[in-house]
Amino acid sequence: MQDAVVKTIGADMTNCYLIAWGQRSIIVDTGTYRFWRRRFLEAASMATDSDMGISAIFITHGHFDHIGSADGLSKASGAPIFIHEADYRLLKEEGRVPAVPQGPWARFVMKLSPFMMAPRIPEDFVAEEVFGDDGADLHGMGLPVRIIHTPGHTPGSSALVLDDGRAFVGDMAMSGFPSLSLKPDLPVIGHDAKLNIQSWRKLLYNTDAFIFHPGHGRPFTRDEAEAMLSYGALIGDRRGCECK
Ligand SMILES: [Zn+2]
Repeated sequence: MQDAVVKTIGADMTNCYLIAWGQRSIIVDTGTYRFWRRRFLEAASMATDSDMGISAIFITHGHFDHIGSADGLSKASGAPIFIHEADYRLLKEEGRVPAVPQGPWARFVMKLSPFMMAPRIPEDFVAEEVFGDDGADLHGMGLPVRIIHTPGHTPGSSALVLDDGRAFVGDMAMSGFPSLSLKPDLPVIGHDAKLNIQSWRKLLYNTDAFIFHPGHGRPFTRDEAEAMLSYGALIGDRRGCECK
């Protein structure tokens, strides 16, 4: 299998990625709703050349800024959507996955930002590949990747780990807005901060991943992730959780 080519699809405030091996590819996350929907689809089609198919769409978690164009892209390309059952259930039953602020900065951002007024997912939204806590292995589709369930930011948050050691972690960490830091930091928005730290340990110690691509901000190394965990407990305490 040739090396994967990774392109960031920078359609809006969320990093979405195209990962391609020759004529097979997977899209990681699909941006926000509303204004950026058309731009995302244009960016995705520019990123793929005419003879490259999109084999799968992986949603790291169900927040509005990661899932916005998933149904449109799936219908346009025929690619199945992979999402964890917990976030999928929230989307289908409640129309959205709640964003839980941790601390005053996150509350401030969420109040100010009209983007946080997330619309409900379309009622006809259907994900074909809903996986459970054991994640999923996509080697059978000719994609050298595994999906690891890494809950915390949302109940269904999951990471995509390539055989070559690159990982796509959604909002398990952020290294730029809405975080206040440009170095990797635990997310300012999250369902269960302590569980997110446990998921980081699971990801670091059960895989050989050494480069992490987040949903917001720049990629970072395993060393930076380990450093983040060592000061993350203190940050977690300041945010009022018992993160150890
Ligand atoms: Zn999120």
